[in-house]
Amino acid sequence: MKDLLNYTLKELEDKMMTEGFKKFNARQIYQWTYKKKETDFTNMSNLSKNLRAYLKEKFVINTLTLKIRQLSNDGTEKFLFELEDGNIIETVLMRHDYGLSVCVTTQLGCNMGCSFCASGLYKKTRDLTTSEIVSQVYTIEQLIKERVSHVVVMGIGEPFDNYDNTMRFLKIINSPHGQEIGARHMTVSTSGLPKQIRAFANEDFQVNLAISLHAPNNKLRTKLMKINETYPIEEVLDAVKYYIDKTNRRVTFEYILLKGVNDDKSLANELSDLLRGINCYVNLIRYNSVKEFDYEGTEDDTANTFKDQLLKRGINATLRQEKGSDIDAACGQLRSKELD
Ligand code: SAH
Ligand code: SF4
Repeated sequence: MKDLLNYTLKELEDKMMTEGFKKFNARQIYQWTYKKKETDFTNMSNLSKNLRAYLKEKFVINTLTLKIRQLSNDGTEKFLFELEDGNIIETVLMRHDYGLSVCVTTQLGCNMGCSFCASGLYKKTRDLTTSEIVSQVYTIEQLIKERVSHVVVMGIGEPFDNYDNTMRFLKIINSPHGQEIGARHMTVSTSGLPKQIRAFANEDFQVNLAISLHAPNNKLRTKLMKINETYPIEEVLDAVKYYIDKTNRRVTFEYILLKGVNDDKSLANELSDLLRGINCYVNLIRYNSVKEFDYEGTEDDTANTFKDQLLKRGINATLRQEKGSDIDAACGQLRSKELD
């Protein structure tokens, strides 16, 4: 763990103390690193010479190497970064009226096998380390010299299949002494792994949870998401109810609208029956076509009918406007074309 970006503040404080430095030094280092984006320990001028020498010998701050930066018509940007081992990852920056949000990648490839998703075209080769996830936000802030206010964990990979590193990432960027991104400004999206949803409920963390549902019954959901064979809807919803009971927070269900597949009005009825009584809202997502698959996105009229049907039956729903679709930068649509 040479990379400083791997350390939570608490861990760095412990490290400082075991190494004979002061606990508050950790905060100073965090402030230099995250608030001032200083990556050279020599320049951390309020630290003792001793400490600076120690840091220089024992630590690095690894920013990612930018390979390609692509700008979309709506201001969304996609960054291709090279990791230390030569692997390439994608991270997306979106500009909203409420601030800047970054969509991070958590794994190289994904093993969940969703039949519509470009990320799943590549099996997972490894999990990203904590610092590799932290560094996506860090490097982008350094490049654009603007503050990122929101983070969504919706890039390549299943974050709950890399649970520990994802949690550490969230804790690190949440620290008020460092990156200071509010927990309520962060969202983790999962394909629905019950054990980890329960663990997440027990974290005592205000981070938002989104569950990729995409279908109101097991037959259809299994067709779209292979993981549903292992964790069917009932098990996912049991875990979600546990999360809501424990945290008192509202959950988002994501539902990609696929033309002629899951967008029939009768399925909106089934969905509303399934979710009735659960403190949630449904985020209807426009599908961005992926050339390897035959799926098409639902047309606007049908999408609105689906949404209205949910609303009519008492389920909160919104139809999400995708950003960056012209550069394949929509969340969940990422894949390093460099690999093709
Ligand atoms: N693995 C996690 C997080 C990454 S995917 C998950 O599945 O939740 C983030 C979201 O983007 C998911 O809801 C996913 O279903 C959706 N998505 C995947 N491919 C998409 C596409 N081509 N167009 C629109 N949304 C897509
Ligand atoms: Fe993996 Fe999420 Fe894509 Fe499914 S939608 S293959 S879980 S990244």
